[in-house]
Amino acid sequence: MYSMLQLNDLQENVLQRALQFSDELLAPEAAERDQTESFAADHLKSMGRAGLLGVNVSQEYGGLGAGVVAYAVGVRALAQGCAGTTVAMMVTNMVAEAIEKFGSEAHKKQYLTHLCSGKWPAAGFCLSEPGSGSDAASMKATAIKELDDEQISYRLNGTKAWVTSGGEAGVYLVTAKTDPSQGARGVSAFLIPSGTEGFNPTAPEKKVGLRTSKTTQMVLEDCVIDADALLGEEGRGFSVMMNALDGGRIGVSAQAVGVADAALKLMRRQYDLRQDSELGRLIAQSQAERDAAWLLCLRAASLKDQGKRLTQQASMSKVYCTEMAGRVTQRAVRGLGSAGHQAHGEAERLMRDVRVMRIYEGTSEIQRFVIAREELKKHRSAR
Ligand SMILES: Cc1cc2nc3c(=O)[nH]c(=O)nc-3n(C[C@H](O)[C@H](O)[C@H](O)COP(=O)(O)OP(=O)(O)OC[C@H]3O[C@@H](n4cnc5c(N)ncnc54)[C@H](O)[C@@H]3O)c2cc1C
Repeated sequence: MYSMLQLNDLQENVLQRALQFSDELLAPEAAERDQTESFAADHLKSMGRAGLLGVNVSQEYGGLGAGVVAYAVGVRALAQGCAGTTVAMMVTNMVAEAIEKFGSEAHKKQYLTHLCSGKWPAAGFCLSEPGSGSDAASMKATAIKELDDEQISYRLNGTKAWVTSGGEAGVYLVTAKTDPSQGARGVSAFLIPSGTEGFNPTAPEKKVGLRTSKTTQMVLEDCVIDADALLGEEGRGFSVMMNALDGGRIGVSAQAVGVADAALKLMRRQYDLRQDSELGRLIAQSQAERDAAWLLCLRAASLKDQGKRLTQQASMSKVYCTEMAGRVTQRAVRGLGSAGHQAHGEAERLMRDVRVMRIYEGTSEIQRFVIAREELKKHRSAR
């Protein structure tokens, strides 16, 4: 199924590592972890030791330096086993890449080595707030600069919402407004290690799906951090986050394709028992859509590997892959008959897990908006 692409040795290596984790560690525990809402910290640390938390991070900092296509291939394989644990891996890779791209040498030494060695199970990405999701630039959290004995620091206050791996991550990429009178241009990005005074998780959210991932709010209450916690320039934090999300959308695409793979596997197993033509039709339709989705994902990943602009292609990939996976998991529920309807059955879990992929890292409506905006930009510049 990965055969529409000739993988190089490094990509093949990532695929084999990820498949092994998926089959041996994630899949056997996914159903029980879903019911008990348990976060697989040990498995994530093992993934870190195997390089899977820094797939596209340079080897110099402990990553695999394997590129974005390798990352997509790895995410797809892992998500077949457990999409919830995979989202923690994805956010960690996204934050690690942002640290490598925008961070100082000290940031890279301090954080990347810990993330890529498995010392920490995850990193966190704190952009959303209660009341500020799609319109992230309307965030209310503030980071006010203070000067004491010629030492610059920032005092942060506010609440970041829906933080994947909240309370579990070793470091968080956090946005707040250094200039609250501005929109996106007033936003700065900071790296805040867990355990920093005034920066605490709330109780985990109760979720419909992806229950093996832990999601909390992270509350900033007079959290004072040194100026060197700034990632990138002051006032440029929004572009740090948007850049990260372009890559993140490739990860969500691959995650959705992995869940579609798992749903197709269930349908094929059922077809072995009962070869009815309607089930065959559902499988054929799903197979074609799954492969089309994967090609869109690979196109976006390959553009990123080439250092090319990918905003529109990443959005096209995300909206198509996640909506495709929604349809395929629904077909699995339908094709399995009463077994599909069983609470805590495999098909039902996949259907629940996939729903949020149309929401996080930009909803389907926002992806369509980005695709249209980018198309109009091209149209105008061609005139
Ligand atoms: C399980 C989970 C994990 C998450 N993990 C993280 C994380 O790690 N870090 C993080 O920062 N965030 C995270 N999020 C937050 C996620 O990114 C936001 O939920 C998402 O961006 C949508 O924002 P919202 O929930 O505020 O919905 P809203 O923005 O209020 O949107 C509600 C509805 O209105 C639609 N809508 C909004 N604006 C428009 C528009 N202009 N045009 C058309 N329709 C529109 C949306 O598409 C949606 O259907 C996570 C969310 C979930 C559920």
